[in-house]
Amino acid sequence: MGVIINRTQPEQAVLVGVALEEQSVSQVKDYLEELAFLVDTAGAVPVKTFIQRLSTPNIRTYIGSGKLDEIRQFIRENPTDIIVFDDELSPSQIRNIEKELEIRALDRTNLILDIFARRAKTAYAKTQVELAQYEYLLPRLAGLWTHLERQRGGIGLRGPGETEIETDRRIIRTKIALLKDQLQKIDKQMITQRKNRGKLVRVSLVGYTNVGKSTLMNLLSKSDVFAENKLFATLDATVRKVVIGNLPFLLSDTVGFIRKLPHHLVESFKSTLDEVRESDLLLHIVDISHPGFEEQIAVVNQTLQEIGAADKPVIVVFNKTDAYSYIHKDQDDLTPRNRENLTLEELQNSWIAKTNSPSIFISALKKDNIDELKKLLYEKIRAIHITRYPYDDFLY
Ligand code: GDP
Ligand code: MG
Repeated sequence: MGVIINRTQPEQAVLVGVALEEQSVSQVKDYLEELAFLVDTAGAVPVKTFIQRLSTPNIRTYIGSGKLDEIRQFIRENPTDIIVFDDELSPSQIRNIEKELEIRALDRTNLILDIFARRAKTAYAKTQVELAQYEYLLPRLAGLWTHLERQRGGIGLRGPGETEIETDRRIIRTKIALLKDQLQKIDKQMITQRKNRGKLVRVSLVGYTNVGKSTLMNLLSKSDVFAENKLFATLDATVRKVVIGNLPFLLSDTVGFIRKLPHHLVESFKSTLDEVRESDLLLHIVDISHPGFEEQIAVVNQTLQEIGAADKPVIVVFNKTDAYSYIHKDQDDLTPRNRENLTLEELQNSWIAKTNSPSIFISALKKDNIDELKKLLYEKIRAIHITRYPYDDFLY
């Protein structure tokens, strides 16, 4: 169920964000930058963004008619293939927009599903994505039908009878049950696999997407001469055995989190996230050079809560210190303190004072402060190991 079709010419996309009452336009601009990144990842080219301030979204077309006219004008002058919204739209809203603009409309969930479908390599990951796609489709069936009828130019605009939609619903429900069944079977195999890994302490890299998790994974598992580059390939979570000093542990790199991930989507990936849920320690990686890093931290914490991993011990790793830029502004004592006027050092001090979890500032790219990170990891893992295996003497 690919949304963005492979063609010789990449598709041209316009992006739309809506600033609801309490949101600032600058925040929505940041969001659209992320959406542009997603569109790019999906293989299309973001050519233009539109923002509208609204108190409530339009029931029919999500955005207002004035904004729709503006977009129509742009599309007329600049050939465009798709319009992408940063929110989840109702099926009828998508349909109405497509009818008004005569191009395909996608919402954020649709786009993320498409990217997941492209990225899924293993049968397991593919099954999880397929499940998520059907769950997304199910409530949208009725709309889809009338939509197809209209495209065929059927007489009258009535969709098929309720019975046909009901039949399709039943087929999809059966398919969903089947996929869940399949996943459960693979899950069982994986649980056995994980049990066979022995009693090593398990550490997971978690964080927002694109913060440097994989970079750090490579750095930690390759740079250490004692590291055994063994792949416990479990689907999309890569697990490697790493040794720091005389201390072996398992490090896993998992899927990144992202804002506005619909609940049913997280649900479909719960099995992949087992790796996180079963960890002894989480390394929460933060991209400190990103203007929205504090919101990203909140999204990650929220997601951890949703998957039942909020109570794990955490080390917060602030990454990309090399790219942190301090925009000095003339300021007086009344200026609120934020990233715009905080030096890296001030920021570090404020975070260290703020969080209960141990934190560390590094650059995975420039390999800054990596020895300190390893030291911290060593201490934490050793403490966990000793509590768990008090009679184990290989550490002493
Ligand atoms: P992941 O999605 O969290 O796994 O992130 P990746 O490890 O794939 O990294 C995302 C991007 O950030 C890549 O282009 C990396 O080269 C870059 N990156 C990772 N660590 C650093 C860092 O310390 N500094 C800078 N400037 N870039 C980094
Ligand atoms: Mg990665």
